[in-house]
Amino acid sequence: MEFIFKTYADFTDEYNRYNMDKCNKCKGTREVVEDKVIVIVENKKMNFEKLLLFQCTNCGEKCLPMHSKDMIDGCYKTMIEQNQIEGIFSWKGYRKKFNYCQAQEFLYDYRDY
Ligand SMILES: [Zn+2]
Repeated sequence: MEFIFKTYADFTDEYNRYNMDKCNKCKGTREVVEDKVIVIVENKKMNFEKLLLFQCTNCGEKCLPMHSKDMIDGCYKTMIEQNQIEGIFSWKGYRKKFNYCQAQEFLYDYRDY
């Protein structure tokens, strides 16, 4: 799953949108799933080994819950501070605090997939 935002402003628009537990397209019920997700904001590429998503049980459309958008926002700002282009972020357990502050979670020049 890939989410691409051309600018940080585009991400902010999505961030401010509240995704309900009903699908925008078909009104189907959304469930929470975990998936490997790539998020690109401007020139920053974030590889999340696992990220929580909403997925519609009817049409399959996926979108980002607020919890995950908070993660992306935090990771993006960390990458700006550390001047990184690409980073890998992994969970340390379900719903525990994201680990993006630890420098060893960043693998530079990761091309291995
Ligand atoms: Zn749907």
